[in-house]
Amino acid sequence: MKRIYLDNAATTPLSAAAAAAMAPYLEEGVAAPFGNANSLHSVGREAFTALEDARARVARAIGATRPDEVVFTSGATEADNAALIGMAVAQRERRRLKGGFSGGRVVVSRIEHDAVLHCASALKRLGFEVDFVENDATGHVHADALEAAMREDTLVVSVMAVNNEVGTVNDTAALARIAHEHGALFHVDAVQALGKIAFSVGDAGADAASFSAHKVGGPKGVGVLYLKTRTPFEPFLVGGGQERGLRSGTQNVAGIVGAAAAIDHAVREREAFAARSMRWRDELYEKLCASSRVVAAVDVAPGDERFAPHIVSVCVRGMESQTLILQLDMRGICVSGGSACSSASLDPSHVLSALGTPRNLAQGLLRISFGEQTVQEDIDAFLSAFEEVVA
Ligand code: PLP
Repeated sequence: MKRIYLDNAATTPLSAAAAAAMAPYLEEGVAAPFGNANSLHSVGREAFTALEDARARVARAIGATRPDEVVFTSGATEADNAALIGMAVAQRERRRLKGGFSGGRVVVSRIEHDAVLHCASALKRLGFEVDFVENDATGHVHADALEAAMREDTLVVSVMAVNNEVGTVNDTAALARIAHEHGALFHVDAVQALGKIAFSVGDAGADAASFSAHKVGGPKGVGVLYLKTRTPFEPFLVGGGQERGLRSGTQNVAGIVGAAAAIDHAVREREAFAARSMRWRDELYEKLCASSRVVAAVDVAPGDERFAPHIVSVCVRGMESQTLILQLDMRGICVSGGSACSSASLDPSHVLSALGTPRNLAQGLLRISFGEQTVQEDIDAFLSAFEEVVA
């Protein structure tokens, strides 16, 4: 049975560009480029050159002004944690040194990925106050809501560019402006924005941003933390001082080279990918919601750019996500019930709860997400399998 993979918001297959870039590094023996990028000899220098080429490539792709604003990490989970904790701790220290400051507060949205939400809980245990900025029924976080959530002791604000479950696109530039007006730093989780919508860290007004290679055809376990020059940051992983002391640990050169090739390719191909994805998104919403049993998780109009092109999210009445996923899987179709991280949980998604979706409806959440390899036949096959399962 041919497998049709429509769960690209969870992860993507390795792209040809990434595989080709990584191939020499996966060869065996001393002739392969296996060096430690921090060694002084020629083998190390070779690895260092590859690492710095990858850094420059990623910096260009994400719109950073300098390559040294790019810090390689083990994924976006680490980048999110490092950004929130690193900036909150450093900002608190700065304000304490100025005198008369105690406490410290972090503001996040309710629709963030667990990497941000659970990090916010960890910050609470470290003595920070954590509050939420409200979103509307489509998951958008508006500037006036953030304005209302701000206080003068707010150190860091984190709001994602694109939600991974329902595809909401936030106006991060407007949110960053509010955060900055109140003296806070602004972090954006841009994992689902990269290669999907026009995005640059500069336009987003970000002091810090997180990206993940495996969502755009790169290898798993490689992420990027963008840190704007002179952003207060206390390193969270300490040790040998790699990544200019911002993230210790011997760099995964093979993975980083693959990540850079994948990110570069995804950003170059973005417009074409987004155009065909949006056609499939609009087709799926129209055809799926023609059934009285199916409700769109968010109201997406055809061509609506307030939602990402690659994510379709619907709720099926009277069915549970797990049943739907397994029944579709038996027909060769891979989709998910929201975030891959919480796929084992029977609790409704925290994102749908934040949108005010009734619990019984939220339990039937199904997310279909497109990747570079997706073709019209995949969409057609999904539609006929779905019709069988939800008959
Ligand atoms: N943030 C968002 C929005 C995501 O979709 C993901 C992926 O699940 C992550 C963070 C975590 O990324 P990683 O798998 O690289 O740790």
